Amino acid sequence: MPATRTPAPENPPSEAPPNRFAGRLVGVSIVIGAILLGVALQVYRAVGEFIDATQWVTHTLEVKNEITTIVARVRETEANQRAYIITGADDRLSDFYASMPAIATHMARLRNEVRNNPTQIANVDELEALLHKRTTGMTDVLARYHDGGFDAAQQAIRTNHSRDEDLAIEALSQRMLQIEDDLLDDRRAHTLTQGAVTRNLTSGATLLSIVLLAFALAVVLREHRRRLASERDVQRSNAELAGSLEESQRLARTLRQLSELGEMLQGCRSLDEALTGLRTALAHLLPGIGGSIHLVNASQDLVETYATFGEPELQSEALFGPDDCWAMRRGHAHPPTDGLAGFPCKHLGDASATAIDRALCVPMVAQGEMLGVMSMSSKLPIRSEDRSIAIAAGEHISLAIANLRLQETLRTQSLRDPLTGLFNRRYLEASLERELQRAMRRNLPMAVMMLDLDHFKRFNDLHGHDGGDALLSQFGALLQRLVRSEDVACRYGGEEFTVLLQETDAEQAMQRAARIVEAVRTLDVQHRRQSLGQVTVSIGVATYPQHGFTPEDLLRSADRALYAAKHQGRDRAVLAG
Ligand code: GH3
Ligand code: MG
Ligand code: MG
Repeated sequence: MPATRTPAPENPPSEAPPNRFAGRLVGVSIVIGAILLGVALQVYRAVGEFIDATQWVTHTLEVKNEITTIVARVRETEANQRAYIITGADDRLSDFYASMPAIATHMARLRNEVRNNPTQIANVDELEALLHKRTTGMTDVLARYHDGGFDAAQQAIRTNHSRDEDLAIEALSQRMLQIEDDLLDDRRAHTLTQGAVTRNLTSGATLLSIVLLAFALAVVLREHRRRLASERDVQRSNAELAGSLEESQRLARTLRQLSELGEMLQGCRSLDEALTGLRTALAHLLPGIGGSIHLVNASQDLVETYATFGEPELQSEALFGPDDCWAMRRGHAHPPTDGLAGFPCKHLGDASATAIDRALCVPMVAQGEMLGVMSMSSKLPIRSEDRSIAIAAGEHISLAIANLRLQETLRTQSLRDPLTGLFNRRYLEASLERELQRAMRRNLPMAVMMLDLDHFKRFNDLHGHDGGDALLSQFGALLQRLVRSEDVACRYGGEEFTVLLQETDAEQAMQRAARIVEAVRTLDVQHRRQSLGQVTVSIGVATYPQHGFTPEDLLRSADRALYAAKHQGRDRAVLAG
């Protein structure tokens, strides 16, 4: 079965340096280990050879000692033989015989010493033969001495070849000694060479090991430095990570708060409610920053302060023109992000020229309409995060203001009559019910007036429908002026109007009705730059509790009184009967 080749897993690039580092260290350690092992082996071998050499020297000396001892013993033996022959002393004879086994013992020792050297063994054999011959010769001489006396011995000595034999023994012993000396020289030379080799090898290997160790140390140091640096990097990036985490948590919290602000603002029922909430909310969202919210008036020529928050470093003017603020002129937050100097907002005063990076104006624009500006300042330069928060908050506020204004318009349209600007009949009915309940609870009087323009049909016929509308509009404005702010003036329908007068009794109501009748009489209705002449009004007045306890009763009573006024000749006020 063919072996399936699995690709070797590749290390990611970031792991390569530690691997290479470990590989280098292992490599260097193996090399150093091998060198040290080699050196140890060589030293072991060299020391072994030194020991051998020492043993060899001892051995050679022993061999040489044996050879010289043997030669000396032979001479001593001969000397004893001669001394005996000359002196006839028996102890010399016994010494002579004692020398024989001693020579044999030394010969045996010598043979044993040179047992590994064939040349010397051959020499030992030769020496043994020579010695045998020599000692046999000496024994022969002694035998002659015993048989024939001194002369016979002298004759035997003269005729045998002891002299040649001595020379041969001497020459052989010298050769043998020379061989031992040569061997000693060889061994010494070899030992010296080995010593030199060992010395060079160990010093070279030691040097190499030092170099390799230095290299390994450099690698370790470099790796250590690299690790320290990468640890520092890790610590730094950890700190950065923690910082950015904190920052993003803060951002998330702020975004949540901003979106909550948006929701709260959308839930506000009035601009006042929204602005009251914003005072605290903005101070919380933009800590260390104070400012104010300014809104443009209806005629778009003035900007007014509506609310303040926090403690601003630069006080904005309470009332200024839209051109006094760069943010409102350009429709963008001012100053631009890079803190361009040289264009301070006029409404922030002269000090703003030197503190431009500590001030920020955010325009409030909704559906293309400039609503106003949120102006703020701080003791320290405004940070870009706070700038972003302020811009986002500005968008929420703009949207909320636009919404609240739209709600206001819609509410007004649903409650008020567009021609006269007075409340409509629906509002009247709701208010009459509410006000009557209140009057009952507080035990206070209340009056209801029903007003109807006299001969309005005729007026319409005379001046056209537009003229009639002009009269209705101007009458509405007049009526609004003639009642108190807490009174409710309404257009009941057509040319009929109703006024609710709180805490007003019949007498006071009649006085007011008389004033209205009088004022209408003198009203000069203008239409297309023409005077449309005089009109009159008839008014019926009914009061609580005298003329009714329910809205229906009161309205009916007032209507009856109005009918009475018409009947009595119009242009008057009549109190319900
Ligand atoms: P009287 O003095 O008895 O009240 O006479 P009058 O003409 O005022 O009475 P009438 O109620 O008959 O006339 C009301 C007229 O008002 C009828 C209608 O054409 C007119 N009118 C009702 N609503 C409007 C309106 O919104 N605009 C105009 N121009 N006329 C209206
Ligand atoms: Mg009428
Ligand atoms: Mg009328």
